[in-house]
Amino acid sequence: MIEQRINEFFGDAEDTGFGTGWWSGVLATFFGALSFGAVLCLHFPQILSSPELRPHYPMHLMRMLIEGLIVGAIVFGIISSVLRRKKALALCGMMLALAAAALGGSSVPINESLHDGPAIGLDWFLLDMFLMAVIYVPIERLWPQYPEQGTFRHQWTLDIVYFMSTHLPIQILSLLVLLPATQATRYLAVPSLQQFIGQMPWLLQFFLAVVVADLAEWFIHFCLHKVPFLWRFHSIHHSSKALDWIAGSRSHFVDDTLVRGFILVPMMLGFSQGIIVAYLIFVTLQATWTHCNFAPNAKWLEKYLVMPRYHHWHHSSQKEAIDKNFAIHFPWIDRLFGTYYFPDEWPVAYGLDGEEIPTGFLRQTIEPFLRGNRRPVLEAERT
Ligand SMILES: [Zn+2]
Ligand SMILES: [Zn+2]
Repeated sequence: MIEQRINEFFGDAEDTGFGTGWWSGVLATFFGALSFGAVLCLHFPQILSSPELRPHYPMHLMRMLIEGLIVGAIVFGIISSVLRRKKALALCGMMLALAAAALGGSSVPINESLHDGPAIGLDWFLLDMFLMAVIYVPIERLWPQYPEQGTFRHQWTLDIVYFMSTHLPIQILSLLVLLPATQATRYLAVPSLQQFIGQMPWLLQFFLAVVVADLAEWFIHFCLHKVPFLWRFHSIHHSSKALDWIAGSRSHFVDDTLVRGFILVPMMLGFSQGIIVAYLIFVTLQATWTHCNFAPNAKWLEKYLVMPRYHHWHHSSQKEAIDKNFAIHFPWIDRLFGTYYFPDEWPVAYGLDGEEIPTGFLRQTIEPFLRGNRRPVLEAERT
């Protein structure tokens, strides 16, 4: 299994606490990989960088960032190799950073004139990973709901594999699916509706888009839970026993594609592309946040906007919370449909209710197509 290999290679049996060289080793590898990928983007901008993002890069800043990542990877690599007996992480980080430097580092010139057209979008993948880690890891370390959980909890490498596998192909898929889909906007769009909505203030348009998306989300999410064939795919998202920002990425690609499709189609009827893109950025940030191991919440707000505690109840394996809280933005949508459950405390148990699903990324990807989940506990209850 991929994640087991990663564990064996990097995660030795030594302590992973602060001061053991673990954090510095992980940071060295993370920075090394980012800098190496970024230098590749500078070398092959036409094929690797997203046409939508290219014009907006402050290149001077980006080059400084790449340089900082290379230096950071080497410094953290040295720290980790001093502190830690097993040097795999430190060496890996330093080698990636040295390779990035050997390939020209941050000063690789961009000579070709770039034009629109198919691209892999590696730049967005790297930025996405960097920004997500920079935003969410610190808030989970500063204000955790479950402090003993830690960043490197059980199965974190499985979720890293999910993060990579769902985020990178989404960039490639966006070419295959989103481009035709934006073309489809032309056919799907109802001009009079689009015109009507387009005249409203931007914020109102955005708010309406979030309402439409969340109604669609509620419906497809409800089906993912209630239709046994679909639950096979969605149950993978529910298999996390410890929730944090990266656990939110654990999702089968069929699940992801269905949800995206169901949300995008009704949005295309009446909303402009600018609003849809703004929504996609918003939903990525909010969906990640609602999975966070993050304690603070505003009592007055959490009734109106989905905060971590609300979505944590959706992931609880406690009987009273099963098949509740399907909305991802507005709790009142669940009230409307009678699927609202929100007591004052946090859940105590997470994961699946007695069902067993395969472990490991590849089996989790393939097996839902072949067979349903095993339910040993439920069957034992019946007899
Ligand atoms: Zn669910
Ligand atoms: Zn979730």
